[in-house]
Amino acid sequence: MTVAEDLIRTLGPDRVLTSDEARAARRHDYWMVSNLRDRQGRGAPMPACVVRPASVADVQATVRACVATGTPLIPFGQGSGVVGGVIAGSEAVLLDLGALNRVRSIDPVNLTASFDAGLNGLAAEEAVAAQGLTTGHWPQSIALSTVGGWIATRASGQFSTAYGNIEDIVYSVEAVLPSGELVVLGRGPRAAAGPDLRHIMLGSEGTLGVITGVTLSLRRKAEAQAVTAFAAQTMQQGFDFQREIVQTGWRPPVMRQYDVRESGRLHADAKDCTVIMVHEGPASLVAAETAAVTALAARMGLEPLPGTIVQHWLGHRNHVPGWDQILERGIVADTVEVSAPWDRIGAVYDAATASVAEIPGCLAASAHSSHVYRSGLNLYFTFAIRPDAEGDMEGAYFESWQRIMAATAAAGGSLSHHHGIGRVRRGWMETELGATGVTLLQTLKSALDPAGVMNPGVLVPDRAEGGAR
Ligand SMILES: Cc1cc2nc3c(=O)[nH]c(=O)nc-3n(C[C@H](O)[C@H](O)[C@H](O)COP(=O)(O)OP(=O)(O)OC[C@H]3O[C@@H](n4cnc5c(N)ncnc54)[C@H](O)[C@@H]3O)c2cc1C
Repeated sequence: MTVAEDLIRTLGPDRVLTSDEARAARRHDYWMVSNLRDRQGRGAPMPACVVRPASVADVQATVRACVATGTPLIPFGQGSGVVGGVIAGSEAVLLDLGALNRVRSIDPVNLTASFDAGLNGLAAEEAVAAQGLTTGHWPQSIALSTVGGWIATRASGQFSTAYGNIEDIVYSVEAVLPSGELVVLGRGPRAAAGPDLRHIMLGSEGTLGVITGVTLSLRRKAEAQAVTAFAAQTMQQGFDFQREIVQTGWRPPVMRQYDVRESGRLHADAKDCTVIMVHEGPASLVAAETAAVTALAARMGLEPLPGTIVQHWLGHRNHVPGWDQILERGIVADTVEVSAPWDRIGAVYDAATASVAEIPGCLAASAHSSHVYRSGLNLYFTFAIRPDAEGDMEGAYFESWQRIMAATAAAGGSLSHHHGIGRVRRGWMETELGATGVTLLQTLKSALDPAGVMNPGVLVPDRAEGGAR
């Protein structure tokens, strides 16, 4: 009996999809390389079947069936991941969480909301917004991703500088372990009960279990909102300005800084770098913060820009061109997010953009920052390369990644801010974690998933390959 037949017998035919259409639609996530390979006729194979669980018990039965038969099991939220976290093999079972999509409860007293893991992010936000609340988590992909996917990838939202990343917003996580057992991690607003086991699931990318439910801490919708924008003559001047703001104690939820090239996307006549901010909270705080950053900008020599630039960004911030539009012009492109402390971020920016610009056929090597901390911030690089020959596209893609990773590592930065590891960064895990850190991760993986069925090939370097690149 095949694993698909076994699962049909256990779960019923409605829960197990075997049509070519269903399997083809979920072969991979939004990683550019998977899209390139599709166009070149080298695409990922279809999985053996797609399981759409309707209950936690369905998930447990699927996990147990895969472990018993040694079948690879690949959790799938909405496939908006951009690092190759989902690539089906022909033997694999693809576990699509999309039918586990209920809002379980909203608690306006304790400001928490519980969701099935497969619920779409925007649907979750709209459910709490109907009660005057917000999750505060606004990834650009909010309409394309699931609540469980946010946990699995350690996602970041555009309002993170005040409201935190997903690890700051999550209250509890419910997951099915590779043993088939259900675990609920997190039961109060804070605990000193040993290591925080929720973090085993945060960023686990489908390799350590299946997230089935998520409780998030909410916020009341902000009373007031204001926007500010400034021109900085150099990236370093903008970084110094942002550092002064957060280290003084101000916390605009949105703080973004674009280099000159990317500033042109915000306002056509840009000649300098652009810093934009959204201020939110009680009206008196918003007024005080807006006045404080405006005065600081004047003291530090940044020029004020019209707020319409920020309003335009707010209105268009989730629109991005699809890969096909880029690939059909013979161009490979991607975004690569990293982070670094304040005293190294300028070196990371300079080294990575200069190194990518040297690649033959480079059309763009630029960056902006979008998540700010007391100790540093992220950079979000964009590259676009048009190699001479179509056959060189994948090579140019990996060369760009290699250069950004190497420049970031050499300058002392961290190699992923929020997209995760997937396949594209797996070879850099030893640089990020050290050899002992990689061994620790491998030990965790083999303790939880001794059969090695959970999303093989993602995140955790194989013991044989170590993890160095
Ligand atoms: C246009 C665009 C904009 C984006 N903007 C942002 C952004 O602003 N911030 C950000 O952080 N990311 C962003 N991303 C990346 C992506 O949306 C996030 O990584 C998102 O969290 C993935 O969610 P998903 O439900 O689509 O997961 P998928 O892509 O389906 O899966 C991602 C990984 O998580 C695993 N996984 C998914 N669900 C589960 C589960 N229930 N249990 C266990 N493992 C699971 C998968 O196996 C895979 O390894 C963007 C992507 C796109 C295409």
